[in-house]
Amino acid sequence: MRCPFCHNPDSRVIDSREADEGATTRRRRSCPQCGRRFTTVEEAVLAVVKRSGVSEPFNRSKVVAGVRRACQGRPVDEDQLALLAQQVEDTIRASGAAEVPSHEVGLAILRPLRELDEVAYLRFASVYRAFTSVADFEKEIAELKARTTGGVDPAPGPAGGSAGT
Ligand SMILES: [Zn+2]
Repeated sequence: MRCPFCHNPDSRVIDSREADEGATTRRRRSCPQCGRRFTTVEEAVLAVVKRSGVSEPFNRSKVVAGVRRACQGRPVDEDQLALLAQQVEDTIRASGAAEVPSHEVGLAILRPLRELDEVAYLRFASVYRAFTSVADFEKEIAELKARTTGGVDPAPGPAGGSAGT
């Protein structure tokens, strides 16, 4: 590991410990040239396995690119796309798997995208879930409507306490 101070190509590990419950390893390093110390964090690559069986590192910008296409003409900005990609990565990492099939990445995209923009969500879902007919759209739209208009919260149960004094 190159020294970030003097750019000496070599450094010595003086301490190594696991962090984040073993998900990452932090190494304290010392530069033999300038003597300064710095820390590196090593993290396993999160791999996405495509249908072809080929795996590649999870790439947030790929998520952004896919979602951006679905968001064309929609009031969604780059910050929101970046945030969505972050949420997707967090969701996948939270599963604790080192490798995930690509369709799980798609699944992880659907939920936050639905919150972000329903039209973009429909576009994305139509490709991702391979809608084959208008009926597929109708069903999905019915579900979206049920979420938005049917948002009348069920009355709080007796335990919820309609706190009448
Ligand atoms: Zn140095």
